[in-house]
Amino acid sequence: MTNTKTPLSELEMRGNFVHRHIGSNDRQIQETLNELGLQSLEDIIPTAFPDNIVDQDPLMLVDAISERAAIVYLRKIRARNKTFTSLIGMGYYDTVMPAVIKRNVLENPSWYTAYTPYQAEVSQGRLEALINFQQLIIDLTAMDIANASLLDEATAAAEAMNMSRRLSKSDSNNYFVDKHCHPQTIAVLQTHAKPLDLKIVLGDPLEDFAQQQCFGILVQYPDTFGEIKDFHQLGKLAHEKSALLTIATDLLSLVLLKAPAEFDADIVIGNAQRFGVPMGYGGPHAAFFACKDSHKRSMPGRIIGVSRDSHGNIAYRMSLQTREQHIRREKATSNICTAQVLLAVLSGFYAVYHGEYGLKMIAQRVHRYSQILAQGIEQLGYQVINTSYFDTIIIQTPYKAHRIAARAEEAKINLRIIDNNTLGISLDQSSSRKLIRQLWKIFALPGKKLPDLIEIDKNIDECIPDSLLRTDSILQHPVFHLYHSETEMMRYMRLLAAKDIALDRSMIPLGSCTMKLNSATSLQAISQYEFNSLHPFIPTYQAQGYQQLFEELENMLCDLTGFAAFSLQPNAGSQGEYSGLLVIQKYHQSRGESQRNICLIPESAHGTNPASAALAGYTIVNIPCDKQGNISLEQLKEIVTEHSSSLAAIMITYPSTHGVFEESFCQICQIIHQHGGQVYLDGANFNALVGVTRPGKIGADVAHLNLHKTFSIPHGGGGPGVGPIGVGEHLIEYLPVHPVVSGVNPAANGETSIGTISAAPWGSANILSIPWAYIAMMGAAGLKKSTLTAILNANYIAMKLAPHYPILYKGKNGWIAHECIIDCSTFKKTSGITVNDIAKRLIDYGYHAPTVSFPVHETLMIEPTESENKPELDKFCAALISIRKEIAAIENGVADKQDNLLINAPHTQLSLIADEWPHPYSKQQAFFPDNSQYENKYWPPVGRIDETYGDRHLKCTCL
Ligand SMILES: *Cc1c(COP(=O)(O)O)cnc(C)c1O
Repeated sequence: MTNTKTPLSELEMRGNFVHRHIGSNDRQIQETLNELGLQSLEDIIPTAFPDNIVDQDPLMLVDAISERAAIVYLRKIRARNKTFTSLIGMGYYDTVMPAVIKRNVLENPSWYTAYTPYQAEVSQGRLEALINFQQLIIDLTAMDIANASLLDEATAAAEAMNMSRRLSKSDSNNYFVDKHCHPQTIAVLQTHAKPLDLKIVLGDPLEDFAQQQCFGILVQYPDTFGEIKDFHQLGKLAHEKSALLTIATDLLSLVLLKAPAEFDADIVIGNAQRFGVPMGYGGPHAAFFACKDSHKRSMPGRIIGVSRDSHGNIAYRMSLQTREQHIRREKATSNICTAQVLLAVLSGFYAVYHGEYGLKMIAQRVHRYSQILAQGIEQLGYQVINTSYFDTIIIQTPYKAHRIAARAEEAKINLRIIDNNTLGISLDQSSSRKLIRQLWKIFALPGKKLPDLIEIDKNIDECIPDSLLRTDSILQHPVFHLYHSETEMMRYMRLLAAKDIALDRSMIPLGSCTMKLNSATSLQAISQYEFNSLHPFIPTYQAQGYQQLFEELENMLCDLTGFAAFSLQPNAGSQGEYSGLLVIQKYHQSRGESQRNICLIPESAHGTNPASAALAGYTIVNIPCDKQGNISLEQLKEIVTEHSSSLAAIMITYPSTHGVFEESFCQICQIIHQHGGQVYLDGANFNALVGVTRPGKIGADVAHLNLHKTFSIPHGGGGPGVGPIGVGEHLIEYLPVHPVVSGVNPAANGETSIGTISAAPWGSANILSIPWAYIAMMGAAGLKKSTLTAILNANYIAMKLAPHYPILYKGKNGWIAHECIIDCSTFKKTSGITVNDIAKRLIDYGYHAPTVSFPVHETLMIEPTESENKPELDKFCAALISIRKEIAAIENGVADKQDNLLINAPHTQLSLIADEWPHPYSKQQAFFPDNSQYENKYWPPVGRIDETYGDRHLKCTCL
């Protein structure tokens, strides 16, 4: 095809990522435009967007760089990170991710491109992986029930505090916190306590607690200084005060230690990071949350449970979905939506691969090394302060601790500096004899003879008291015994992956979720050692590559949004909302207007909005929407006038969750500002605006972005996420800070800042190279093209489907934004078919359903994104149109009302091979409804899952 006459610029274009990311080629885009009556993509702007939001200022962003150039650039950046051995501990430890898991899960799109398992029938693989994770947590903590991850240990502690408040009958508002919890945990608790008028009381649980009145207590076991305290009396003591006992713990230590449940804990939390997930300069990792059975209905986060399918066989699903925020809104148990699913899956597999024996070997080795290290250090003339410990020792130094730490740094080892005379060392799975000898050398004064490791080992006495040693067995379920050879492990992971629909099979049209391409190039950096091996609390001179990455990403985001600054700390959209609302609160307080406590939230808002506002202590006033799904300006004006002096903020999603660009956005912002309020923009749908408008320039004061939607971080089956917030100039000083690492927000200080939102200073730092690479490779023009193509695709789908399904909402010129809501509510009357039946029938066609019944009941919300090409859109529309015909057949009596293609969907292999085929329709219609299934048939592993059975018989462990 190429000949020597092809212009050089075109030859170079082949390195251009934009045409890899955008699904349709230019010819297909042109065809789509023609069908919609437009000449060019640019025509979409005046057609679909309100005139007053379009931004004419060009982006500062440089032109797109090629995939190769992005890799080279990131290589240079990562070369600026120093890969020291970090023995800082404090909740982060080096670990070894088994290569078989790295290759088959972390780097496998079947796992990382999946979404939250809303459609359980096409998610059985990851649901099983998550139930393994829950079983692991239940086994090690010995609690009754565990969820399928939270965002990090510190926010898990905050969730525990809130849950304790909900459940405790105590009328005290004090929450007692072990002063030996990790400092970042205490900081996040303080942030969460304040807006709810709860008081954090720091103290020693064994000395100060007895006199305290409180609704709950949090202790750490082993504590941040490694000490293992006996909490046998604590549960009883807490319960006498009507307080709930929460224990923060370390999973690996629990392999050897008595389970926290034996202290009668109500809740147990922690971080599963050291189960095979690299530190990654702070995250992402899966936090865990376990509790007593009696508290389960108040538990935050998603719980995977067991139910049965239409054949009466076992099937997994997300339990207690009625507690989801979008149903309970401000009464939700938590604002958690995106969690850390992929990380929970990784940690679960780590336990499956090692099993009880393997984990014991790892834990015992870490513990033995720690004891040997401690004895040697004592022989060298130092005092080791803690008496019982698992992996962390605290050393008193007669002279400046900094001097020893500096010597360690010269040997590329980071120690924890506690104060002028105290150092901490935490060992981990990667520690070795060599490391111990190196450490002795660092501590030894000149001329001092080094201890003899073998001799010390011979004379080691256990330092953990018998009463705190674990005696029961763990991980007895078969799944933890079956897959210890690499061959078996590889096949198990493949078996599970094959059960699911992820983006590597077909388009996932989930509205509001933005299932665009997660390019292989953008993902490369995350598994590189120079990015993923860093401890979050190292001195920043060792993380210059990361610091550069943050600065460049923040600048890119400021450029795209028109905001003055960004905080990368929030670990999901929900956390961005919460942080942004606290920023607004702090702003009002600093101006002497702390009476401003009303937050307006439109009916159409995502459920996390009211849940976050409630957590931030706001009084929520709902704003009704009109028939077109828009905020009713008249009613807004009335409400705002009524609450003028107490108006704090409005939370507005733009484009709205109804998938339209409201014409009155700028006007709404003006009204709110006139009354002294601030505008919070839920920017989860920013992918419909990038390159066309800048929220910070058209009236928003704060916004969060979902980097896991708009900027291409994979969803991982329900996490990780990154939900940074951007703010205007006047709000910079309130952005989050960190108690351990300074320099997170140079403009803020302890006084002005809202405090700490996440355990790690820059949140999920390890995955920030993904949005960086995405933005760099798309460039200004590519990002805009991407936005316009996404809108084009959504409108194309709307046009194709309109003759068959009513399109619920439309904006200017009958155009919608990036997603399309089709109304399925009438079928119930005409044929008995529900929107759920349509969702399940799509599985027979090989598709994951769109978003079901959100934000409007009995509708499907379809978001195609720019990454799907025209043939795939056509194929998907053809499936929905064909299903509409199947409904019509019921409507006009051709098909049976009780026994039809829809209510029996999805159709499984089991029904295919059954001796009898009892249905009035053919197998061909059931299994191969159109030609496309012949070469690529997805077989659902289970039939329709009984949702209510699963909730009534809640069971959340392996079978
Ligand atoms: C996805 C989404 C959120 C929540 O983001 P998470 O990262 O899941 O917490 C909030 N608002 C809207 C409109 C969303 O689509």
